Amino acid sequence: MLSDNQLLKAKKLFEISKNSTFYRGKYINYEELKDYEDFFKIPILSKDEIIGREHHLLTKDYNQNNIIEDYTSGTTGKAMTCYHSIKERNYKAYKLWKNRRKNANILPLDKRALFSPYYAFLEGEKIFFDDEDNDLYLSNINMTDEDMKDYFNALVEFKPKWFTSVPSALYLFSNYILREKLNVEEIGLEMIEVNGEMLFDYQKNIIEEVFGKILFNHYGSRETWCLAYSCKYGNLHGYDEDFIYELINIDTEGIGELVVTDLCNNTWPLLRYNLGDKVKLLSHDCGCGNNSIILDVVGGRKQEDFEIDGWIGNSVIFHYSVSRINSEFGHSIKQYQIIQQASNSFLINIVKGHGYQTLHGELLVKEILSKIPIGINIMLNYVKEIENTGNKFIYFKKEVNHNDKR
Ligand SMILES: [Zn+2]
Repeated sequence: MLSDNQLLKAKKLFEISKNSTFYRGKYINYEELKDYEDFFKIPILSKDEIIGREHHLLTKDYNQNNIIEDYTSGTTGKAMTCYHSIKERNYKAYKLWKNRRKNANILPLDKRALFSPYYAFLEGEKIFFDDEDNDLYLSNINMTDEDMKDYFNALVEFKPKWFTSVPSALYLFSNYILREKLNVEEIGLEMIEVNGEMLFDYQKNIIEEVFGKILFNHYGSRETWCLAYSCKYGNLHGYDEDFIYELINIDTEGIGELVVTDLCNNTWPLLRYNLGDKVKLLSHDCGCGNNSIILDVVGGRKQEDFEIDGWIGNSVIFHYSVSRINSEFGHSIKQYQIIQQASNSFLINIVKGHGYQTLHGELLVKEILSKIPIGINIMLNYVKEIENTGNKFIYFKKEVNHNDKR
């Protein structure tokens, strides 16, 4: 159900969207949004409809000089251009910074360290200080023990107030700190913000064990920017005044694909846009006093689904299998990547962690086999490191091409 405020904003957005060539064609039968029911009759918008025609969504009054472009990373092979006006971007940035200020009094020019491959690609530098923004860049595509030793020393010297990272890199770094028994007090961090990937409980537990309860989760997308931000109770709150959150294709456990309407982008309207993330929506009260809807991001994106002879699974099951082994055997699997080489065959690349034994790999295979159809071949392959080629770590790759059955 929508609030009156959401409906009012949705009506306005719907009218504005009629100014774009894309929506004019799509909503030919939708004259006007009168009530809640009309809103839910708007057809769901898919990524596939937009790709290659992104600029057709722009509403006619946009000003070319006033527009910001973002590019989705295209992990599924299809990149997309997204647009905001400068004013809209500033509004969204303001909302995000409000959270950071509330959680740990973080301000835009405070010293920040971050895991990012940006300067490693641009300058070939593993560690790079950007003095304009007061940011210390550490390359998450270089994560050997030696690299991490250098990072730790650089952090102790720089003393950042906060840190941003994808969970996968910070998880590796936390394990390193734990193993080497380093003292994080020497860094003096006041807040950590993870973003860009789903945060798994096994990662959260280790990161908090090492750094304390200063971890916050920023959940968003390039298309919409920040969609939800966690509070000190660990609940991921949405912004009810800025977005409408819905689920479609809901399973028996209440998990569905997240569909959002962005109420603060009139430049490039997204109405009932299917982001594809697997989410549960909870709306119970939270001790922090924020009444906005709570999102539980439980699984990988729909795009990370894989198929075995008509059976559909999501790559998130591999995460849960690995985390089960790691919680039992003290993080003996340092890193992993799964490649579906054929419909019935998977290769698992494993970087051995401290205390790894062959038995752990065998148990992992057994665990995965118990979750997928029978007759599947899984091979383990031990590697020294797994190359990370971008900002996000790719846990799962498909080398098999299924025919498009739509
Ligand atoms: Zn809360």
